[in-house]
Amino acid sequence: MTLVEIDALTKLYPNTAAHALHGLSLAIQPGELVALLGPSGCGKTTTLKLIAGLLSPSSGDVRFDGRSVLGVPPERRGVAMVFQKPLLFPYMSVGENVAFGLRMRGERPAAIERRVRDMLDLVRLPGLESRRPQQLSGGQEQRVALARGLVIEPRVLLLDEPLSQLDAGLRVEMRELIVRLQRELKITTVFVTHDQEEAVMLADRIALLFGGRLQQYDTPRGFYERPASLPIARFFGGLNFIAGHKHAGRFHCPAGALELNGVTAPDGPGVLTIRPEAIRFAGASANTLRGTITQSIYLGAQTRYLVRSGGVELQVLADPHCPRAPGDSVELTLPKERLWVLPAE
Ligand code: ATP
Repeated sequence: MTLVEIDALTKLYPNTAAHALHGLSLAIQPGELVALLGPSGCGKTTTLKLIAGLLSPSSGDVRFDGRSVLGVPPERRGVAMVFQKPLLFPYMSVGENVAFGLRMRGERPAAIERRVRDMLDLVRLPGLESRRPQQLSGGQEQRVALARGLVIEPRVLLLDEPLSQLDAGLRVEMRELIVRLQRELKITTVFVTHDQEEAVMLADRIALLFGGRLQQYDTPRGFYERPASLPIARFFGGLNFIAGHKHAGRFHCPAGALELNGVTAPDGPGVLTIRPEAIRFAGASANTLRGTITQSIYLGAQTRYLVRSGGVELQVLADPHCPRAPGDSVELTLPKERLWVLPAE
């Protein structure tokens, strides 16, 4: 298991005016799966290529287990990279594709054959050694690419949107496979995606980049419960944002004063946020607001309600069998441990 440290990494591509990466620092613990998340063009692939050695940084360092790898060529870094498109060798069989890295290392044929068989079992493609890449489905091709990367027992596995070309069902299946393999093999893994749901499902920790700058490096839960800024909260699907003022452990807004718990924002103007699923239709001793339902939207597994309270509109997700309708007067409880305050923009 390898510790990967990215230290003040900056990348300015030739003939470009803006930096693709601005002083990115991250420590990826041995055996951890980290998702690099962010919108298109934020620098995810650039970071991955810098770790792989396919690009050189303008400044900064990449270290594996405390040693700089900047002078080490890609093929000697011990990294395996899987791309959006599987890029299998079309003129080789599946078995030959998976065996490629071991052949290059000059391993013995019997050992190679055994390792290839084990790898194909692991990615749930047993017995497909003699198939050609053209005879595989997109999901199967991607699993072969994964097997080809893993067979060399890399120190670091780099995955660049490997699921984005797959349809929804296959994507879920592949996510589960990647999580299982990564947990089993405990390879330090960096997974690039622009899909926050995918990052949340897969990653131990997420590094969120906007415009080549790290915004927050945290657990998935941290992003939901303690987003560092409004844009981050919005990126993670936050819907309730209430402007007001924090003072002495309470948040004052037009709907009332709400008790806070563990909020680190300084006193002063701020924006209160709470996830729609954290709000309950119930009265309680603390943090109860009275309001009127203005709209209900049936979503199948849940119903989304809009509730107006003292000039504030709140979104609430509740059970679809909840017997409430537009026009009803309701009490809402906003549990204090689910409230979070962000600096005003
Ligand atoms: P996507 O999700 O679209 O793949 P990304 O987050 O992976 O995006 P990068 O591919 O790392 O983003 O690109 C970061 C920035 O660097 C972008 O502004 C991009 O246009 C620029 N860039 C990437 N490759 C080059 C290059 N070879 N030459 C010049 N600029 C580049």
